[in-house]
Amino acid sequence: MKRGLEVESGGCKRCGSEASVKSGRVRGLQRYGCKECGYHFTATPPRGKPAAMKALAR
Ligand SMILES: [Zn+2]
Repeated sequence: MKRGLEVESGGCKRCGSEASVKSGRVRGLQRYGCKECGYHFTATPPRGKPAAMKALAR
């Protein structure tokens, strides 16, 4: 099951801080800005992983 709110940002992808704020959208994805380092990133849901599916299928 997916819980959208739980994986809202996943934390900063540069410094790992969870202190991120919403910073608009880009290409339909929610964009976040890190409060700690100012890094901007988008929340990409971890789904549709071919490698993981292969591993499970075998
Ligand atoms: Zn950061």
